[in-house]
Amino acid sequence: MKTVIVVAVTTAKTAAVRASLASLVLAAPFGLAACGGGDESATPPSTAAAAQCVVEPVNVVVSVDQWGDIVSELGGDCARVTTVLASSAVDPHDYEPAPSDAAKFGGAQLVVINGGHYDEWAAKLAATSASNAPVVDALEASGAEAPHEEHEEGHGHDHGDEGHEGEPNPHVWYNPAAVTGVADAVTAELGKLAPDAAEYFDERRAAFAETMKPYDQAIASIKASATGKTYAATETVFDDMASALGLTNRTPQGYQAAAANESDPSPADLDAFLRLLGDGGVDALIYNVQTEGSVPQQLRGAAEQAGVPVVEVTETVPSDATSFESWQVSQLKALAEALGVTT
Ligand SMILES: [Zn+2]
Repeated sequence: MKTVIVVAVTTAKTAAVRASLASLVLAAPFGLAACGGGDESATPPSTAAAAQCVVEPVNVVVSVDQWGDIVSELGGDCARVTTVLASSAVDPHDYEPAPSDAAKFGGAQLVVINGGHYDEWAAKLAATSASNAPVVDALEASGAEAPHEEHEEGHGHDHGDEGHEGEPNPHVWYNPAAVTGVADAVTAELGKLAPDAAEYFDERRAAFAETMKPYDQAIASIKASATGKTYAATETVFDDMASALGLTNRTPQGYQAAAANESDPSPADLDAFLRLLGDGGVDALIYNVQTEGSVPQQLRGAAEQAGVPVVEVTETVPSDATSFESWQVSQLKALAEALGVTT
């Protein structure tokens, strides 16, 4: 049985992990035959879950795929999930919505966005095209501090907090508390929209918690052994997770501020980073493989030359990942290995 579950989880795109552990086990005999085609709708877990869903599916629109997979797992067959930015080939930071995107929000009963400036376009489309739909905002769910009061330009404030933009890090799918918060909020909203399926959604939530156990365990074991270890990062994407793991961020401040603003670091900031790596001043370099440009590559080269392990992470769900949790767990395992921690 155990082997079959592993096969199902690693070959079926997201459908397998959407099922509860129980239905996976029950469906296992079909799993081997059905998974070969890679057709989501043909996989047994969905079929098993379909029998339990007796309501008209709730229409959910999700802005980006980092949340889309989670929402699909939670909604199962009682939700019709449309993820607007479902391709890892597009940089969400630079996304300009197409007219067809507005139409996608048209029939939405529930909208899930990342929040902040990250997908402001989605918040706007939700407000205009699906004004009655509740909106789950991941940044809000994360409990991240609200933006500080805006400083007007030329306002001479005397304490030097350069690089602090007054905005929380938008990459909250890397924040374990945000993931839990979004999952709870989505389940609650789905239950309100389709009360007859509330129990079904509660079961999906429990199944999601079950599939997240390897993620929770990886975080717990890294945290237990690696607290106080240091890292630097080519991009701010992983910082929330690193902080949850108890790691200390040694990315030079100026570089980090530039990266957060998507601008080029000054030569001095880059130089400081290169020296940090050259001196082996951190335990790992977190490298976002989806960031283009010569600067990250130069940093990677410096790390490799100095023997600093490079841990690859991505902004969006890579096309070969079977689920949100498998994506996250494989990155956590790579990090653990780099830090010499067993998970
Ligand atoms: Zn980013």
